[in-house]
Amino acid sequence: MNSVACDVAIVGAGIVGAACAQECARRGLRTILVERETIGGGATAAGMGHIVVMDDSEAQFALTRYSQQLWQELRPELPEDIEYEPCGTIWVAADEEEMQEVHRKQNFYRQRGVPTEVLDANRLREMEPNLREGMKGGLLVKEDGVLYPPCAARFLTEHARRCGATLRVGCAARRIEQGHVFLEDGENIRAEFVVNAMGASAADLTPGVEIKKRKGHLVITDRYPGFVRHQLVELGYLKSAHSVNSDSAAFNAQPRRTGQILIGSSRQYGAEHKEVDHRMVVRMLQRAQEYMPALGKMSSLRTWTGFRAATSDNLPLIGPWPGDKSVWLATGHEGLGITTSLGTARILVDQMTGAKSQIPVEPYLPSRAGKEHVHA
Ligand SMILES: Cc1cc2nc3c(=O)[nH]c(=O)nc-3n(C[C@H](O)[C@H](O)[C@H](O)COP(=O)(O)OP(=O)(O)OC[C@H]3O[C@@H](n4cnc5c(N)ncnc54)[C@H](O)[C@@H]3O)c2cc1C
Repeated sequence: MNSVACDVAIVGAGIVGAACAQECARRGLRTILVERETIGGGATAAGMGHIVVMDDSEAQFALTRYSQQLWQELRPELPEDIEYEPCGTIWVAADEEEMQEVHRKQNFYRQRGVPTEVLDANRLREMEPNLREGMKGGLLVKEDGVLYPPCAARFLTEHARRCGATLRVGCAARRIEQGHVFLEDGENIRAEFVVNAMGASAADLTPGVEIKKRKGHLVITDRYPGFVRHQLVELGYLKSAHSVNSDSAAFNAQPRRTGQILIGSSRQYGAEHKEVDHRMVVRMLQRAQEYMPALGKMSSLRTWTGFRAATSDNLPLIGPWPGDKSVWLATGHEGLGITTSLGTARILVDQMTGAKSQIPVEPYLPSRAGKEHVHA
């Protein structure tokens, strides 16, 4: 059996594994990144690429804001094909109750230094004339943006390679344990740290990791430049994102640099197959038309699905796995892994090297769920 040694072996080259590889290599760790299919081809290729600050909890805010700022720092280096656009998000309020939520959200962000603007109905109409009449207003979150995730994963992987990381693409890991990654082709990688960055498949090689697959659909239209100008999300999205028992669909539309419109999004538990579920697509598009009626006249080019890796408390798992201290987790990012990949990589490597992190790491530690996670 071939054997090779390194400091860090990362399994999974989605955006999270790619970011971890880049961070490890940049900080001088000898790194090997293993991917069974293509770089950025898993949930990363299915994601919307909204780089968004969120406020469900202090921990979610800390990681999304920190990561968003890291994307902004990286911006001058991002190649054209990543299509980074600082378009901002508008959280759309359909009624007075949602306007109250606009004010609550603005207050939360203002206290934490995030630039926002409350939009009344007229200002919203000026900024997004294709929203239906009668919307009450919205909240513009100015520093949010969008990018094209698979190219971002490739960029981070290439950066890792230039800093000395080795890539093993097209080769699956069969087993990870006690400082080893056993590959399907018979190779054995020995590493001080083995990182499971397998997204929704993380439990395949680390049994006991509590990840549930949450299926999502997206639709992309033909080119309609200027029709949508910001990432638009209905405020009801949060109710939909939190529903764990039923299927849900919420209005979420994104302007792409090409003039195309990316329309989302749905959430389903217990749907394990990749096929497009037309019932879900119809529901999602009907919801979108309630917000932007003219979307109904547009032609769509492609519909696809992907699996978010969901945890029970909606926070990712970043750090050592209590069942085997050589195995580290970087997974469970649900609908925010494109945004939080860079922050995840920083705090993971901070923990490995004993460096002080810029945000508290405790909320994301895999040990937080207690003893039921411990496997001998
Ligand atoms: C519809 C939808 C919309 C989304 N929109 C957004 C958004 O707007 N903003 C945002 O921030 N996030 C969004 N997300 C979430 C985001 O896409 C994910 O959180 C993120 O891509 C997860 O990245 P990952 O690297 O953890 O997983 P993945 O991208 O799934 O990567 C895991 C990799 O591991 C590899 N792998 C698995 N098993 C093995 C093995 N045994 N050996 C070797 N390799 C293996 C897989 O091939 C895969 O490439 C969305 C997700 C979906 C589904």
